[in-house]
Amino acid sequence: MTAAEKTDLARFLDLAAASTGNGYLCTASEYFFTDDIIGEPAETTLPVQPPQTAAGTDDSLEKIAEDVRSCTLCRLCETRKKAVPGEGAAKPAVMVIGEGPGADEDASGRPFVGRAGQLLDKMLISIGLSRESNCFIANVIKCRPPANRDPLPDETAFCASYLQRQIHLLNPRFILCAGRIAAQTLLQTTETIGRLRGKITSLQAGDREIPFIATYHPSALLRNEDLKRPAWEDLKMLRSAIEKEKEN
Ligand code: URA
Repeated sequence: MTAAEKTDLARFLDLAAASTGNGYLCTASEYFFTDDIIGEPAETTLPVQPPQTAAGTDDSLEKIAEDVRSCTLCRLCETRKKAVPGEGAAKPAVMVIGEGPGADEDASGRPFVGRAGQLLDKMLISIGLSRESNCFIANVIKCRPPANRDPLPDETAFCASYLQRQIHLLNPRFILCAGRIAAQTLLQTTETIGRLRGKITSLQAGDREIPFIATYHPSALLRNEDLKRPAWEDLKMLRSAIEKEKEN
């Protein structure tokens, strides 16, 4: 809905309330609304297409990060403190993709730095991975949704080209997807995370099929101890696949 439409609706509701004499008193002399949709969503969302952006062949991780930090494509730019482009190794064995920044990430501009992030780091280290050496960590959406609500479809669509460009440039050997929202977005499905995890599938990225493992989000593990065992199984599966790839 546009700001103008919301203003008209608010005026109409004020008039209706005043004319029914229900005691509601409107004190607003002006309305401050913003449009829900600021630009047009990208035509393609995911699976990953080769980037069709102005960046073209000159694209770089720094350029993507700059574009993310100055992005105003959706309403999340109005409430974010800092956008969170992602960080890590430039030639990663594993790209970890989460849902979107929380409060700690929004404050720092870095992905997975809160409690869930600290657990993620421990999980990665347990199978020989880290953001300092061989992982890149990013999210499906780059700005924090207010009150950590789920991202809306148009927000995910607007953000898709940044993730596509990152995947295309990084060309990771594996993708580890953390949580239901990221897995459903990347695989374009409504299947539960319980059914998406526990196996190696693939994500089509240009002409490459990137081996893809989904697992529970670390914040789900913090809430529910019972999920730790299956998450550990997923990590062991990833570790075996990485070792197998090294042998070949
Ligand atoms: N949860 C996510 O999905 N991503 C972050 O960066 C932090 C918490």
